[in-house]
Amino acid sequence: MKISVVGTGYVGLVSGVCLAAKGHDVTCIDVDQAKVDMINRGHPPIYEEGLEDLLKNLVGKNLRADTNLQKAVLDTDLSLIAVGTPFKGDEIDLQYIQQVSRDIGAAIKNKDAYHVVVVKSTVVPGTTDRVVLPLLEESSGKKAGIDFGVGMNPEFLREGVAVNDFMEPDRIVLGGIDQPTLAVMDQLYTVFDGVDILHTNPRTAEMIKYTANSLLATMISFSNEIGNLSAKVGDIDVTEVMKGVHLDKRLSPIREDGERITPSFTTYIEAGCGFGGSCFPKDVKALIAHGKKFGQAMSLLDSVIEVNEDQPNRMIELLNKHFPDLNGVTVAVLGLAFKPGTDDIRESPAIPIISRLLEAGATVQAFDPIAEKEMKHLYSEEQVCYCQEIDHAIRGAQAVLLVTRWPEFAALPNMLDKDVLLVDGRRMLPKDSIARYEGIGL
Ligand code: NAD
Repeated sequence: MKISVVGTGYVGLVSGVCLAAKGHDVTCIDVDQAKVDMINRGHPPIYEEGLEDLLKNLVGKNLRADTNLQKAVLDTDLSLIAVGTPFKGDEIDLQYIQQVSRDIGAAIKNKDAYHVVVVKSTVVPGTTDRVVLPLLEESSGKKAGIDFGVGMNPEFLREGVAVNDFMEPDRIVLGGIDQPTLAVMDQLYTVFDGVDILHTNPRTAEMIKYTANSLLATMISFSNEIGNLSAKVGDIDVTEVMKGVHLDKRLSPIREDGERITPSFTTYIEAGCGFGGSCFPKDVKALIAHGKKFGQAMSLLDSVIEVNEDQPNRMIELLNKHFPDLNGVTVAVLGLAFKPGTDDIRESPAIPIISRLLEAGATVQAFDPIAEKEMKHLYSEEQVCYCQEIDHAIRGAQAVLLVTRWPEFAALPNMLDKDVLLVDGRRMLPKDSIARYEGIGL
């Protein structure tokens, strides 16, 4: 099948490359000429494990990038919209979705063949049929459901393991305005064998994505609240509390042979220094705002955000127990990405943590295996000393803050001097492996 993917960020590029790897003919479209050039040279503008190898194999064959959306729509059967949907001010910002809808509509105006437009970006329920569809009709002068199809296909990939998630999805959700749209969307995914496919309408598809993200974000904030109380009460370790909770066989079922299965869902029921990334914070906020627009109070999700925004402060509080005055104290911040496996720092807890450290007059030495370049856009090299190795970052540091669960940080117990304080924001290290240890929820 010939498809165009509009937007070559984390979702667009991974989708485009993986769909090409599955045999489709893919044209990736972006307004950013530099990204387009990089892709055509076989260099992905973002880091995702396995992405570069796939791209190098496919580019110039059944995969290419371009800035010409009009031509791509004319040449393909289906367009996936994968542009950003940030949260701005007090609601979701749909400007990129609107622009692309108008542009695709203008191309459909000059196209005789039936074309299907599918929103892959995360958009609040009602966007595909109330915003995208009317814009397509307006700029094409044609009728949805007759001249073209409109659908919604949310993406569930996780950054860091995006290629694997896309190639082996747990479910595919297809929301279409009618059967002909769904039939074309089905063709896109026939190359994925044995995966559960849910057919529904666009609004339900949109709601599924928000519900899935909100549930996971809620689990995290819930765990953090329990962790914060555990620490206040004293003599309770939240990691033991959560272990006891995970052992519920409804959360970790016991197989017939007696072995226990530990689903990755349980990793969201653990305390830490808060969630970040380009999705959870903005999606939960967008759903809250959407609820309010409909007169539906979203008090539970309000609290999820409130707990999360306060959680990086726990790291500073634990540091302050040992260093009430941080002025002149050298602190190593280990991990800048919002989670391991990615160079994405959007909404990373490392950002408010560094900001508080700098406000308090601390000297910050930072290390991240791949996200340093991104953080330099926020904090200059005059503000933060960026280090190439873990041992450079901890050299001379009086305290070390572990912010991202990068596997290489498991070596810290053998690297730290006895008098150095470690604050474990991910409860990653055994608490008795380091002489001066503090952790969230301990
Ligand atoms: P991103 O910011 O990484 O990429 C967006 C891309 O769209 C950019 O390359 C930008 O240049 C391009 N773009 C903007 N306007 C354009 C236009 N008019 N024409 C062509 N290209 C244009 O975004 P992302 O992280 O890939 O997210 C995209 C969407 O997918 C969002 O709605 C997000 O919520 C959703 N999503 C993201 C993830 C994730 O893990 N990042 C997972 C699931 C869903």
